[in-house]
Amino acid sequence: MRESWHDFFAESPDVLKADGRQQTVVRVLDVEIGADEFVTMAGPCSVETEAQLLATAHHVLRGGARILRGGAFKPRSSPYSFQGLGLDGLKLLARARQETGLAIVTEVMSEDHVPMVAEYADILQIGSRNMENFTLLEAAARSGRPILLKRGMVATVADFLRSAQCVLANGNPNVILCERGIRTFETATRNTFDVTAIALLKQISHLPVIADPSHGTGKWYLIEPLAKASVACGADGLIIEVHPSPDHALSDGPQSLTFDNFQKLMDQVRRVADAVGREMAPELVAG
Ligand code: PEP
Ligand code: MN
Repeated sequence: MRESWHDFFAESPDVLKADGRQQTVVRVLDVEIGADEFVTMAGPCSVETEAQLLATAHHVLRGGARILRGGAFKPRSSPYSFQGLGLDGLKLLARARQETGLAIVTEVMSEDHVPMVAEYADILQIGSRNMENFTLLEAAARSGRPILLKRGMVATVADFLRSAQCVLANGNPNVILCERGIRTFETATRNTFDVTAIALLKQISHLPVIADPSHGTGKWYLIEPLAKASVACGADGLIIEVHPSPDHALSDGPQSLTFDNFQKLMDQVRRVADAVGREMAPELVAG
């Protein structure tokens, strides 16, 4: 790493690469994030029904996903939008893990919910809107579960790394950074997916980096090109929204892939992963 980054990111020294410091590998069930394997996390934006979640879980498993995503507590901009199933959603996620063997990543939105969410989830997601909620970061860190830390939508890389430092400083080394797009002057896409940040983070930090082109673009048809770009520039994995019927999704339908499109995405991503020397879980033969 270029030495000057240690000055530039002086407030987050422990997340930076340094002599003698190993790449962080986060282990959940039998999955290693940040090692040789390129890891895909996939599933619906929100857990809606048992049928929706289980069908999606089985499908993404067949496509080569290793971790199931799904929100039970949803940060919605409108109080009138679907807020998530809460504890019932967590129970459905646990059921999906039992049926498929997939590890679970799900968002925790409040400090009070940390013990409950940590009981069901293998990885706690801290959402973009909460990246700088330091009380929540502390409580989540202390749960001992790995943390998927999403970049705030108006956070610089320095802000992002400070939040990661906060988790490490609270005794939890298992942080996964997630680039999910930032607000810029552009309005044609939901966010501006910052591929540069992925390349930079991989050069300066020892923490695994996951790309979220679903929230990064807000458009299902832009996910494949940006997923490929993410693998090519060194990301350690993807988190992708998939829904059996995106037109009927209770949240983020326009950026959710159908089952067929998820399959196509995985085929394409696999080719780029191959080209850059990353392994991927095999596609399972249906049956
Ligand atoms: C999500 O993952 O569904 C989500 C709400 O993400 P973000 O916090 O990045 O907006
Ligand atoms: Mn979403």
